[in-house]
Amino acid sequence: MRSEWAEAWRELVERARRTVADGLVVGTSGNLSVRVGDTVLVTPSGVHYDRLGPGDLLAVGLDGRRTAGDLEPTSELPLHLEIYRATDAAAVVHTHAVYATAVSTLVDELPAVHYMAAALGGPVRVAPYATYGSQELARHALAALRDRSGCLLRNHGTLVHGRSLEEACDRTAQLEWMCRVWLAASSVPGRSPSLLPPEELDTAAEKLRGYGQRPG
Ligand code: 13P
Ligand code: ZN
Repeated sequence: MRSEWAEAWRELVERARRTVADGLVVGTSGNLSVRVGDTVLVTPSGVHYDRLGPGDLLAVGLDGRRTAGDLEPTSELPLHLEIYRATDAAAVVHTHAVYATAVSTLVDELPAVHYMAAALGGPVRVAPYATYGSQELARHALAALRDRSGCLLRNHGTLVHGRSLEEACDRTAQLEWMCRVWLAASSVPGRSPSLLPPEELDTAAEKLRGYGQRPG
């Protein structure tokens, strides 16, 4: 079990560093977690990811109690834990990505400008604002995530879950990219972007289930 934790922690730190390298966060903003059985490995609060090593492994139970490590868990622990309690997510990624954060201040739902919205379960909602780290924010986010694997947090950033850390990170990148597309298209004076109807998103969702390489 402990070697499983060590490998999951190594991947968590690597993915966390990549969120900074990819410009999805600056400084110590954002946080990531991964579930291993009934344990959740989480990034610590306010620590630069490049300072984290194997000895900093930080684990909590689903009740939020620390089961391994000395560092303080992310201030968004309530957000991460609510998702694990309510869904079959294996990983959660929160960022302050620029385009997504900008969009979160403009609309209640990201308009369906692209079929990749289907990869997140449909048009992405914006959760009402609440102070970072609050139980209220966790509640708003969970409601916005109903039947979706991602949402925007108003005036704050992105929140995405997946069946693996790789999937949660890939979905975060797609979400940020879609926000960028919508902002670019909706910035053209005198024009407004065409949107995909819900039936087309359903068709795309069905087709995406068979997207890519066949297993085996
Ligand atoms: P932490 O450093 O506590 O994870 O907080 C960063 C953040 O993005 C809060 O919303
Ligand atoms: Zn944040």
